[in-house]
Amino acid sequence: VACTVICSCGTREGSFSKKELSLILSGDSSTLMRVLTVENNADSLLLRRPSLLLSEREIASDTYKLLAKRLVTTVSDSTVDGVGLAAPQVGILKRVVAVQRYDKEGAPFEVYPNIRITEYSAEKQTGREGCLSVPDTSGIVERAQSVVISYTCPQTLETVNDTVQGYTAVIFQHETDHLDGVLYTDKLYCE
Ligand code: ZN
Repeated sequence: VACTVICSCGTREGSFSKKELSLILSGDSSTLMRVLTVENNADSLLLRRPSLLLSEREIASDTYKLLAKRLVTTVSDSTVDGVGLAAPQVGILKRVVAVQRYDKEGAPFEVYPNIRITEYSAEKQTGREGCLSVPDTSGIVERAQSVVISYTCPQTLETVNDTVQGYTAVIFQHETDHLDGVLYTDKLYCE
């Protein structure tokens, strides 16, 4: 019997579960996904679980492409109006995030499979954060000023490293925390 070790190191790989597949395939690319919140007990437990990496085969799949589109549709919808969304927030425990790239022309939403942060700058920034999964509240969090992100390019399936700074770096830190079951409310800044 294989023993499963739960850790937040982000190195375990797993395929979409049956339940995840049915969630992703429950609508088309223009359909919103339900955002889990801490106000619901079952949602709250799921939001605390670590997410798994996806295989290259899965990243190349139509299922992944649909998930990526539905994440962007959901976070950018006027009723949601977020700047980032992590897959576990819609019930998919996989290392995928959608981030609004304020550091790029037109501030497009981009989706990053198998993302992790490999370096945090010593220089810090503090700012107010909220979370779609923690409704009606916000708080001040201290984050690194810049981070190095590593992810799998969905087109080439190669590992890409990139340095991100400022507010966009905050979004990446907030969203990748979700992949380790961490919420910003765990990190509220006290003077
Ligand atoms: Zn969040």
